[in-house]
Amino acid sequence: MARFSFSRSWWRPVAWLLCASLSAPPLATAQLPSMGGGDGMTLGAERRLGDQIARELFRDPDYLDDPVLQAYVEDIWLSLMQAARARGELTPDQDERFAWTVVLGRDRQVNAFALPGGYMGVYLGLIAVVANRDELASVLGHELSHITQRHIARLMSKEGQQTPLMIAALILAALAASKSPDAASALMVGGQALTLQNQLRFSRDMEREADRVGYSVMTDAGYNGQGFVTMFDKLQQASRLNDNGAYPYLRSHPLTTERIADMQARQQLKEVVPAPLTLEHALIAARARALSSVNIDQQRQWVAEPEGAGFAALPVTRQAGILYTAALAALQLRDLPKARQWAARLQDKVRGQPEAQRLQTWLLAEVDLAAGRPAVAAAQPLSAQGPRPALFLAVQGRLAQGGRDAVEASAETLQTWVTLRPHDAGAWLLLAQAWRAAGKPLRALRAEAEAQVARFDFQAAMDRFKAAQELVRRGGEAGTDHVEASIIDARSREVGLLLREQASQR
Ligand SMILES: [Zn+2]
Repeated sequence: MARFSFSRSWWRPVAWLLCASLSAPPLATAQLPSMGGGDGMTLGAERRLGDQIARELFRDPDYLDDPVLQAYVEDIWLSLMQAARARGELTPDQDERFAWTVVLGRDRQVNAFALPGGYMGVYLGLIAVVANRDELASVLGHELSHITQRHIARLMSKEGQQTPLMIAALILAALAASKSPDAASALMVGGQALTLQNQLRFSRDMEREADRVGYSVMTDAGYNGQGFVTMFDKLQQASRLNDNGAYPYLRSHPLTTERIADMQARQQLKEVVPAPLTLEHALIAARARALSSVNIDQQRQWVAEPEGAGFAALPVTRQAGILYTAALAALQLRDLPKARQWAARLQDKVRGQPEAQRLQTWLLAEVDLAAGRPAVAAAQPLSAQGPRPALFLAVQGRLAQGGRDAVEASAETLQTWVTLRPHDAGAWLLLAQAWRAAGKPLRALRAEAEAQVARFDFQAAMDRFKAAQELVRRGGEAGTDHVEASIIDARSREVGLLLREQASQR
């Protein structure tokens, strides 16, 4: 299998839909309304379209809810949002109505893309190739600016454009076809999708604006603006080495000498010095690399890498990354002794660097949990205020250890967490496990239903609510939880309305 293979994931057409192609002419900018407004499509309509697309993304096998990578990207994303808010680029209306959700895709493409309604797709390939937070912030800042400047809404509201619902239907048709073994039908829908791609393409002016606003946002957020330049340089180097589609970010964001010169002028740089890989990001990139591959030969190769001849001579940052990838690859191959050996050996490499140390501890906890040793995970703080990966490990560790108090405390803490973040489907699912372990099946069913609501699968949510109501009818211990039973009735009515609304949009 080629190193950068084309998977059948339907994410790719979506990425193309909303980003320009290198070979295609730019939009006639004269037809566009002035920059900054999203004329023609309301925030609410754009959000509904985004939700429809997100619903399908969440169902895709390539969708990944990895607490560690999600937390890292979200941390950068949230700080960029904060800066955009302070600058007035992100309006209170957008803040309230858009989803502002990062969706990770298990794909080795170096790509990130803004979707309608404030959704932001990020492929693991991008995380694996950037050197530090600054570089990732430059890409996310650019995409964030496509969202705040309402570029997507303006593309979709052009004269002669399909209605938003038609766009969603076409996207979904293209997605279904991309998974179908029937080449003919894929080709047909591919043609439609191609037409759509030509309609939905950012203009050069939009790209220039996303660079300008994105640069200001990322530097205001405290990132080094040089990340923008080194990222451009990295992409340009890569495009010279490799023109086989391995760097689709280039296809969607053509690097013109103008864009590069513009960025260098902003930085007042005479030459570009490649950014050093930080230790923290070396581990994050290593994780992205390991999780983006399901190729067993590749994983075996990674597991053996720390034993290779040149390993000892490598800089410590490289060694750390190799050990992290090796440990995670061994875990995926269920070679638990090897996974533990490499995760433990990583400890020496991260000493004195708190962010990297934390990542090493989480890795060790993950490996130990898989091997039936929950102590490291259970030692993580059980807090609804702390980082999500620590909370998830803390709960998993306590559930594995058992004990009524620890299990109930886990459920209560997660309950607080989802009250603050009702869209966290992963947390709802973990909460369902915790309530089940605590002997509260009714609450477990409701948590499962809420996880489906968070992913916009209202039918699946209704099925869980019905199962819960059935449990109440049958009486027994579940029948005595009157508070929970009335919450379930109320929620099932609300979700029933959402389901009818969703059906009427078809
Ligand atoms: Zn762009």
